[in-house]
Amino acid sequence: IDDGMPTYHGIPLFPNGIWQANGLTFDAKLRAFMNSLFLSKNLHENPEYSTDNFLEFRLGREVVDYMAEPYYPDSVYGSMELMPVKLFDDNLVTIFGRAHIGKNKKEQLLRFADGSGQEYTFKGGLTTLIKSLAQHSEGHLYVNQKVKSLSSVAEDLLLIELNGRESMRAGSVLVTTNPQESLSFLEGLTSEVAIPKVESTSVGTVFFKINKTAVKNPPEGQGFVIPRKSSYHTTKVVVLNNKWPLLEQAEHYYILVEFGRRLEETLIELADALVMEIIKNEVKEILTLAEEPLQVIFYRWEKAVPHFSLQQRQEMLDDDYPVDREYAKRGVFVGGNGMTGYGMENAIIEGKRLADEAIRYMKEMEKNNSPN
Ligand SMILES: Cc1cc2nc3c(=O)[nH]c(=O)nc-3n(C[C@H](O)[C@H](O)[C@H](O)COP(=O)(O)OP(=O)(O)OC[C@H]3O[C@@H](n4cnc5c(N)ncnc54)[C@H](O)[C@@H]3O)c2cc1C
Repeated sequence: IDDGMPTYHGIPLFPNGIWQANGLTFDAKLRAFMNSLFLSKNLHENPEYSTDNFLEFRLGREVVDYMAEPYYPDSVYGSMELMPVKLFDDNLVTIFGRAHIGKNKKEQLLRFADGSGQEYTFKGGLTTLIKSLAQHSEGHLYVNQKVKSLSSVAEDLLLIELNGRESMRAGSVLVTTNPQESLSFLEGLTSEVAIPKVESTSVGTVFFKINKTAVKNPPEGQGFVIPRKSSYHTTKVVVLNNKWPLLEQAEHYYILVEFGRRLEETLIELADALVMEIIKNEVKEILTLAEEPLQVIFYRWEKAVPHFSLQQRQEMLDDDYPVDREYAKRGVFVGGNGMTGYGMENAIIEGKRLADEAIRYMKEMEKNNSPN
């Protein structure tokens, strides 16, 4: 896309922007232009339709495959094929769920434009957040404990079994472990409802240290994303020297490569050495490396991205979702990655909401148990 053309997650913010897009056929551009101007069915109001369906209707298949999908990694946003658009990213409805743009709407839409200020990075890495949280919670946290089971011992008393050796009593419990794990200790608590089964996928990151002179085709900017419809397994390449001020003047290139998508699990299940070899060959080709990288480190994020089907989502979106209700009755408030959304922002919002619900529950219990 032309530098001056505003985009949102790589998609042109305004219909005219589509003409500047590289790599799309003329037919695809025409379809995107016409659909975004004239079609106005309210697909976004119907949770039977996924984000993928919504965007295809508004902008056409090619725009979804080559522009939208690569900018929404599963690990951060979940799958656009499995989530209704309002849950996935409500901004897409504001921007693309309209038939035409009025004059002042144009100004409002520019607030969403990609560019500096839309993404935040901790200068000292994610540990900055953890250290800061630890300062506030020291002495109140019990860390490095594995919850083995959760049971109800009396009407308002829960028992948490830790490490299979010790137990802890609690009036209320917030569950924010990943849904696959939560299933193992929540299932025994009630037979009234079944927690939805989840399919989790794995992703991987490979870190490369490369001699600067070896890179014959250095990427511009902080890196790039690669669409699903390509022969590469790599989904994203980040040049850390261009992203982190700390590495700007570094002697070598430090490059992070992400890979792994839903329904492409075969690669990540291979042995470490084989995975590294495959990804290394892709990086060698893309960056035209004249020599081998100096260092390659592989991280595997096993079952890190839980997915629910569209059907399960519809049930989960119900305000009076029976699973939530059944657990809440017992003082157990269930969240976790993928339950109401994905990513750090969602995790923080969800944590606050669950804490709020637990406090209300405990106050209610206190009131009921009070002799007055
Ligand atoms: C490679 C990768 C890159 C990502 N990049 C980004 C990004 O750039 N921006 C962004 O917003 N999001 C990103 N995400 C997504 C983000 O990490 C998650 O959405 C977020 O961490 C979810 O927070 P959470 O607290 O719900 O779950 P988690 O962070 O997964 O926390 C769950 C915790 O529960 C613990 N646990 C599990 N089972 C038990 C048990 N039985 N007993 C006790 N503890 C248990 C786990 O050890 C873990 O600490 C990324 C994810 C991955 C995998």
